[in-house]
Amino acid sequence: MNKSLAPITCKNCGNTFQGNYCNTCGQKVIDKRFTLKLFLRDALSVFNLERGFFFTVDQLFRNPGNVLKEYLSGRTKDYYHPLKYIILLAGLSTIFVLITNTFDNTIEFTSRLAESLTEESASSSSNLQSKMQEILRNYINVVAILMVPFFALSFRIFFARSKLYYGEHMIISCYALGTSTLISILFTIISGFFPNLMVLNVTLGFGTQFLIFAIFYSRLLNKNIIISFLLSTVSIIFGFIIMLIFSVLIGSVIGIVLKKMGVI
Ligand SMILES: [Zn+2]
Repeated sequence: MNKSLAPITCKNCGNTFQGNYCNTCGQKVIDKRFTLKLFLRDALSVFNLERGFFFTVDQLFRNPGNVLKEYLSGRTKDYYHPLKYIILLAGLSTIFVLITNTFDNTIEFTSRLAESLTEESASSSSNLQSKMQEILRNYINVVAILMVPFFALSFRIFFARSKLYYGEHMIISCYALGTSTLISILFTIISGFFPNLMVLNVTLGFGTQFLIFAIFYSRLLNKNIIISFLLSTVSIIFGFIIMLIFSVLIGSVIGIVLKKMGVI
């Protein structure tokens, strides 16, 4: 926007510089009043959709190994931040799930499947189930994000020979979980139109996660895809187990504290 070479005094920190951004604090030069157009353009750039996000999605589908290698080696500027990536996709996924009501259908479908397998239905368990359903419906977007630290820990253990740091596994987990969330959004849209494909949606939803992690780690580490798939499967299952144990522990601690305080 500001192409002049005349020195500019930063409105944020007072530093004198040339260009569009302050070289000390990063404040963007805004030499105009906020019109509605400028406000909206500024708001869009918060999500950085036009450059960072779509570019990252495209690159992750074309060449995930290259994205991860570049990002982990410090060439991060072109890519959408991994945490923002998963937060945005988890949010989008929640919106789509609520719109298409897939979640209710999925629960109904799986409980009907379970019923037909066990040939019995207890009313108490269905009551608990509907409560769980309610909670999960509200927090399912958070669950995907909460999985990241546990998956990263598990991959750190099972991919120990890769010598990757825990923080690096966090980055890979964000991109992999975000990407499988994106694919599950596509399944959600499709099954919204074709409710009979629900069984496909459930199976593919789980399968995608294993496959995405396997492909990402295989490409990043130049590892055999079969070995990578087996290690990823073990890591994901173990990651789920530590997350479950952790939530039960946290739940009990909160329960004890609430009881001591006399809340319950
Ligand atoms: Zn400044």
